[in-house]
Amino acid sequence: MLYPTPIAKLIESFTKLPGIGIKTATRLAFYTVGMNDEDVNDFAKNLLSAKRELTYCSVCGNLTDDDPCSICSDETRDKTVVLVVEDAKDVSAMEKIQEYHGLYHVLHGLISPMNGVGPDDINLKGLITRLQEDSGISEVIIATNATADGEATSMYLSRLLKPAGIKVTRLARGLAVGSDIEYADEMTLLRAIENRTEI
Ligand SMILES: [Zn+2]
Repeated sequence: MLYPTPIAKLIESFTKLPGIGIKTATRLAFYTVGMNDEDVNDFAKNLLSAKRELTYCSVCGNLTDDDPCSICSDETRDKTVVLVVEDAKDVSAMEKIQEYHGLYHVLHGLISPMNGVGPDDINLKGLITRLQEDSGISEVIIATNATADGEATSMYLSRLLKPAGIKVTRLARGLAVGSDIEYADEMTLLRAIENRTEI
């Protein structure tokens, strides 16, 4: 073993994070060891409490410490529109622009024929149940990223929902192909939602 076991274990933990290779993990592990006790305690505490206290909203799938989440339980929101996103980070991106006042549905993934991910592997059933139970929903806005998987998911949803008489729209192409909603600037997102088109 190159490093003492505790640091080797810490390196291994860091490598489990997305985008962190062995080199960065090693740098982070050594950095963490050099931090003062209070900061390390806070770090560990925050990790554990985030994991313990957060859950996915049983209605929309958004990350929350309260179920149903604050958006689903907000009586002032427009309950006739549901915006469908890939993950909870996209909800935050959308909420930041403060222009969308409807509800959300988080898929926790996208249909990906290339990777063998089908409709049953993502949180689609939840959306269908919502639409069946709540006839007040008249429009579903598909806000998946402009990638091949985003398109596949959008097509599947529109084929599924249109025959049920639900208006299905897609964010306008202000978003560049392959771009992430999560990283889009607020003006681009605002324009994309205002200029959404029926599909
Ligand atoms: Zn919710």
